[in-house]
Amino acid sequence: MLKKLSAFITLAVLAAVVLTGCSTSQEQGAAEAKEQQPIIVQGPMPIEAEKLADRLEDVKEEKSGSFVFYKGKLDGYPVIIAKTGKGMENTAAATAVAIEKYNPAAIINQGTSGGHDPGLHVFDIVLGKRTVNLGSLKTGSLNENEGIEPKNWIPMDLMASEGSAGEDPDAENIRYFKGDEQLLAAATAVKDEYEKGKVVEGTIGSADVWNNEVDRINWFHEKFGTSVEEMEGAAGAQIAAAYDVPYLGIRVLSNNKVNGGEYNPKTAEANQAYVLEVLKEYIKTK
Ligand code: SAH
Repeated sequence: MLKKLSAFITLAVLAAVVLTGCSTSQEQGAAEAKEQQPIIVQGPMPIEAEKLADRLEDVKEEKSGSFVFYKGKLDGYPVIIAKTGKGMENTAAATAVAIEKYNPAAIINQGTSGGHDPGLHVFDIVLGKRTVNLGSLKTGSLNENEGIEPKNWIPMDLMASEGSAGEDPDAENIRYFKGDEQLLAAATAVKDEYEKGKVVEGTIGSADVWNNEVDRINWFHEKFGTSVEEMEGAAGAQIAAAYDVPYLGIRVLSNNKVNGGEYNPKTAEANQAYVLEVLKEYIKTK
């Protein structure tokens, strides 16, 4: 009798635990569904993130590793400014962490860049219709004392297969990541708000390299169709694509070696003012 009673009590307690568990997770789910998914804006350097964070309301700062997230609101809509740090690795990791932590509706990656297109000048802005990793290359096969021939290097698509990229001829292609159509539409709609230069669609090339050799820059421009180079865009694009999160790079030219455009750090702030207009426009569609 006593055994039966204690078995009954154990079952009742178990059922209660399971039921309470269910109802809280259901309630949480409903609350999350009601909550708006934030838009994330990434900036690599302090001058590319902190000014933007100042423009938000109710800002709370959160950190993950070396990545800083400024969570706030713009026109009542949740926006997170992410200071990622420079370069591909920082950006890839900061993108994955942000997606896992905040479940964003979209990601904008913005900052400065160096021109590859002689028709673009310092203060012009490139919207990344495509983004490409310029460090993803396979060299030709040369033996000792045969030298180095960078112009014969072949683009390498690391996403082509799960086999050896060094052996796989299918990997000898350029992998472009497409900018999100809706984000591009929002950016195009507010083009005229930007008066410091022109705003064009183009190809953003990324690598942990600052190219200062004009012949090398021209090689990328011709072979990869790059409008500008920077050190983050393609890394974020690859991770956003892995999670199927809409993504767009927005890059101002801070320098252009091809036409003698000297580095101007003020371009970073001008770009952020434009990105703010893009954000407002995009939020209207949410
Ligand atoms: N290693 C140097 C350069 C950093 S600046 C230093 O620490 O001083 C690099 C930043 O500027 C990157 O975030 C990159 O996205 C951007 N950038 C601007 N112009 C660039 C160019 N011509 N080539 C590569 N990156 C550029």
